[in-house]
Amino acid sequence: MVKKRACLDMDNVKLRFDWLKQSHVHIKDWKKVQQKIHHLIKGKTEKLQVIADFDFTITKFHVAGRKNLSTYGVMESYSSWPLEFKEAIRILKFNYYEIDNDPLKSIREKIPLLLVLLREAFEIMRRSGLQESNFKFMVEENSLQLREGVLDFFEELDKSSVPFLIMSAGLGNIILQVLSKHSLLKGNLKIVANHVKYGHHATETVDEVAGRLVHPYDKGDISMRLSDSYFKNLTHCKNIILLGDSLGDLDMSCGATSANTVLSIGFLNEKIEESLETYMEHYDIVLTDDQTFDIPNYIIQLVVG
Ligand SMILES: [Mg+2]
Repeated sequence: MVKKRACLDMDNVKLRFDWLKQSHVHIKDWKKVQQKIHHLIKGKTEKLQVIADFDFTITKFHVAGRKNLSTYGVMESYSSWPLEFKEAIRILKFNYYEIDNDPLKSIREKIPLLLVLLREAFEIMRRSGLQESNFKFMVEENSLQLREGVLDFFEELDKSSVPFLIMSAGLGNIILQVLSKHSLLKGNLKIVANHVKYGHHATETVDEVAGRLVHPYDKGDISMRLSDSYFKNLTHCKNIILLGDSLGDLDMSCGATSANTVLSIGFLNEKIEESLETYMEHYDIVLTDDQTFDIPNYIIQLVVG
């Protein structure tokens, strides 16, 4: 009897899979994805946690034909930031790009060099005397566009008290301002990102991982450092929905060692033809040029029931 019931549930899930059969949704292993979604539904919201990247995952990649800004881009575009600091950052960015694209260096060799430059950039930002109010103005001046449906996604997770971790190598001060602007800073949310400190303690929402800067290539290490703190309190949340836009984002769940099911959803924003196969190899569901949060929202709706 129990077996029959399980089969019926699986059939219902299959019936509800049409939304995954759209031309911009790419899945390599259908069976695996169906099984994972079935586990998520079975575990309901009580067993669920969500981990997401911020830049170009929660935010759109392009808006009206133009690339959306990154969190750092918002700061660099700020009209009241003195030119000398903008110039210093421009030079660092050039050096960063050179190392990042050096074909003779492995990622392992690049990480410490890139972290040095990232640290220097944060020292420049700190010396420029930025205050919290500046970050607010930056976001007012150059607002980041969130993907369509992101507000619903946050709301649903908050309503069901689903733990939600944002792990970003972007600028945390901007992330906080953007989310605050949309009233999205709720109790279920934790943000691990890079913050410019300006004299007072970071808010409750913000978690510092032993003073480490988050680097896009290094999210696995950051996640492992969270396994004795953040993830330790979530051992009952064995089902994870992971959302990212780069391959490095896949490591964000490494520290959740008690997890059974990780359903990964990857936004493939650029170089789509060259990268699709690799993304499909690594992400369970790949969304090409999708500026919405429709697919994550569908899945959440199934889990909420
Ligand atoms: Mg990203």
